[in-house]
Amino acid sequence: MMNMTQAFQKVAAIRGMNDVLPADGARWERFEDIVRGWLQSYGYRNLRTPVLEHTRLFTRGIGEVTDIVEKEMYTFTDALNGDSLTMRPEMTAGVVRASIEHNLLYDRPQRVYSIGPVFRHERPQRGRYRQFHQIDVEALGFVGPDVDAELIVMLARLWKLLGLTDIRLELNSLGQPAERAAHRAALIEHLERHRDILDEDGQRRLYTNPLRVLDTKNPAMQAMADSAPRLFDFLGEGSRAHFDGLCQLLADAGIEYRLNPRLVRGLDYYNSTVFEWVTDRLGAQGTVCGGGRYDGLVELLGGKPAPAVGFAIGMERLLDLWEQSVPFTPLPECEVYIVHQGDDAQRLAARVGEQLRDAGLPVIVHGGQASFKSQFKRADASGARVAVILGSDEVASRVASVKFLRAEAAGEAAQQQVPLDKLADVLKSKG
Ligand code: ATP
Ligand code: MG
Repeated sequence: MMNMTQAFQKVAAIRGMNDVLPADGARWERFEDIVRGWLQSYGYRNLRTPVLEHTRLFTRGIGEVTDIVEKEMYTFTDALNGDSLTMRPEMTAGVVRASIEHNLLYDRPQRVYSIGPVFRHERPQRGRYRQFHQIDVEALGFVGPDVDAELIVMLARLWKLLGLTDIRLELNSLGQPAERAAHRAALIEHLERHRDILDEDGQRRLYTNPLRVLDTKNPAMQAMADSAPRLFDFLGEGSRAHFDGLCQLLADAGIEYRLNPRLVRGLDYYNSTVFEWVTDRLGAQGTVCGGGRYDGLVELLGGKPAPAVGFAIGMERLLDLWEQSVPFTPLPECEVYIVHQGDDAQRLAARVGEQLRDAGLPVIVHGGQASFKSQFKRADASGARVAVILGSDEVASRVASVKFLRAEAAGEAAQQQVPLDKLADVLKSKG
């Protein structure tokens, strides 16, 4: 039998998967509050999908010859039934699957958002983790370009709400399938002429996904990539008109952008509009948001054809940027901290705590019993604005001693006696 007293070897978290500790949790929550309000202000509604999906969804949706599917997915066989399952590496495929499965586009287009963890097996470093979080926003069933513009304007508003200024917009159009095919042929010719400088990924993708070869970060291939035929030059009239329409609307909104013909995005499903928001303040991992149109994906995944456009924000990167740009005053843990002495006072404290919460006040009742001195230390550390003191005198006379802890609020009457039935009113009026 196992010896239960044997020391247990401590378990650490999985590499690249982070805990968010309470000190940072407050910042995450404030961030999420802002984000939810922002999404609702554009009429986006929450859609939540499972973290696990059938592997086929991603190999089909994202594309076989992409970084994600080739080397980043957490895929495993369900030992109980042999199914191949994958931890979602992004959210769009799941959102589209759900919209097809539940016929969401049956009678109208949909604006939806999803917030949560995604998983990619990458080399962990600043801004690159194995579990990270995305805010995923999708407008399903709209042809654009008005909605493309709305999504971009919406993002500019979020940066403003957060007080961020150092983010710039990069824009490109990937055109339609026929335009891409013509460009692809010209591109393959170009790549073949420079075959000797293609690295391993480049060689492998030459015929399977030549566009992605241009997305390389290999310095030795930059000049070759810069001189490659530009997809943008292959766009037909319709694609141009869509793109010009978008640019017009961005100009109306006063949003600056840079046309980046090499912006192709890492997933197969994009067409037409693609964009990224980039900052120089985060080192190598400077892209905080990427998005674009994916008009073929709904059909590719078995639904009735429907246009769509969306984006995903990397929350860790955006929070990192926010933290660097905007000072954060930690929120108090509560408004009211109740200290107590003796068994009767402790029981009363629990009831008074509930009564104050009924009145809408956030309250911490000191846990356990301790000296007044150490309880007051805790009260101070909690950031509470007021301490309510209950001892045997207070229990007997049904009053509480109230002590304002912060100098501004303390004023003359730093401590006062308040009958219990007036307590909530008094505490609220001295906010
Ligand atoms: P990158 O080029 O940095 O690998 P990507 O093109 O793979 O990014 P997307 O699939 O567009 O990224 O995901 C949307 C956003 O999610 C990115 O813009 C980025 O902010 C964030 N992101 C992507 N991968 C990671 C990761 N491993 N850790 C943290 N955030 C990430
Ligand atoms: Mg990536």
